[in-house]
Amino acid sequence: MRLYNTASRLIEEFKPHEEGKAAIYTCGPTVYHFAHIGNLRSYICEDVLVKTMLYAGYDVKRVMNITDVGHLSSDADTGEDKMLKGAKREHTTVLDIADRYTKAFFADFNKLNMRMPDVVEPATHCIPEFINMIEVLLDKGYAYQAGENVYFDTSKLDKYYRLSNQNEDDLKVGVRDDVDEDTNKRNKTDFVLWFTKSKFDDQELKWDSPWGKGYPGWHIECSCIGIKHLGEYMDIHCGGVDNIFPHHTNEIAQSEAFLGHPWCRYWFHVHHLVEKDKGKMSKSSGEFLTVSLLEEKGYDPLAYRYFCLQSHYRKPLEFSYEVLDQMSDAYKKLRKRTSELSADGEVDEAVFEEYRNKFEEALTDDLNTSSGFTVLYDALKADVNDATKRKMVESFDEVFSLKLLEPLAVEAVDSDLEAFVLAKIEERAQAKKDKDFAKADAIRDELLAKGIAIKDTREGVKWEKI
Ligand code: AMP
Ligand code: ZN
Repeated sequence: MRLYNTASRLIEEFKPHEEGKAAIYTCGPTVYHFAHIGNLRSYICEDVLVKTMLYAGYDVKRVMNITDVGHLSSDADTGEDKMLKGAKREHTTVLDIADRYTKAFFADFNKLNMRMPDVVEPATHCIPEFINMIEVLLDKGYAYQAGENVYFDTSKLDKYYRLSNQNEDDLKVGVRDDVDEDTNKRNKTDFVLWFTKSKFDDQELKWDSPWGKGYPGWHIECSCIGIKHLGEYMDIHCGGVDNIFPHHTNEIAQSEAFLGHPWCRYWFHVHHLVEKDKGKMSKSSGEFLTVSLLEEKGYDPLAYRYFCLQSHYRKPLEFSYEVLDQMSDAYKKLRKRTSELSADGEVDEAVFEEYRNKFEEALTDDLNTSSGFTVLYDALKADVNDATKRKMVESFDEVFSLKLLEPLAVEAVDSDLEAFVLAKIEERAQAKKDKDFAKADAIRDELLAKGIAIKDTREGVKWEKI
């Protein structure tokens, strides 16, 4: 398996800490609102990563946190808690918001046919672990108390910016002065491990701690939850590129300071879904694009998954309805073709193996999904029987997860359904006029077989899907 590693800026051969195993961690959603389809692009690409590792024979364990406390409206420890903002917006409690949007997130996850992580852990379930890690960091001299909060001291590290691998001085300049108004910090890049005091005092969820009643900073949860479930060595850590700094940079700082040794070897980052002339898709930019909205507009969520799989995860992907329409048509065409492959006959195992290997080679080459599709389309053209093709499609779909062997619903097969039905109604009216009642009945039955019921009313012929 070859994988691009943000930490080295190179495509590297994957070598797990433990032979044959892959310990994978994913930064989960901040559950203060629905996930937009940009967030979901990251999760789709991570799902492809996990399924490729499984396809290549690794024993995968994937852990995901749920951020239900501590993520402020700016990633740099300033502003209001996002969860509290969500609760105010919907006139309810933080726990209720967390519950509502965690469920909504996994409903989308399911619609996009993603594999559930092996462990899902909300931050609020791990407060004792956070407190323990912060105590150790204080003991070791990596943290300090100031203004009733606890901070991580980034000056204690030789290479704080290791992940972004840039000139440390350049990056220091890049830290915006206006964002960070916290005068308690000794260094601009220091970050909060535990708050007991912020400008926003109305925090709803607070816990007792050795430093007073308060709540954790954002980054501590991923270090603690990762170490809790995957042990002291993690193989791959995933997230969107916006997580590289400060979130993942801070995770490395505190985890390695806590453990006293290197922590995670490979850093996997998905580039953003972008909107033309607007840049990164976010919850506040223009139309709030969710899976439910796409469904309301008549798209199959899996058409969006297909759309994401056509481009490489390390490139920005521009969203537009025009491209989604094209992708949706291509997806339906493909699925119609693959789901109609007959299972009759004997599978040619040699040909199957040949294509399976080609597919694995494409995917294990830093997740080259578009090459994977080339293998799939070549397989459909190969000189073998349907049963062999069917087995290949079934196998590739372990990674693609596009339900390629499931027949499409009738309305999806025919995007011109309405035109089709109206033409049939017209034909039936003509048959009736010609007193060819057998033909008229046959047309009604033909529509019924496609899930369309027609009814003669005084206003004319009405039809509906059943
Ligand atoms: P959040 O719920 O804000 O913590 O984000 C969840 C995940 O979505 C993180 O891994 C982000 O890096 C990622 N993300 C946020 N915006 C985008 C976007 N426009 N395209 C792709 N991934 C994104
Ligand atoms: Zn995280």
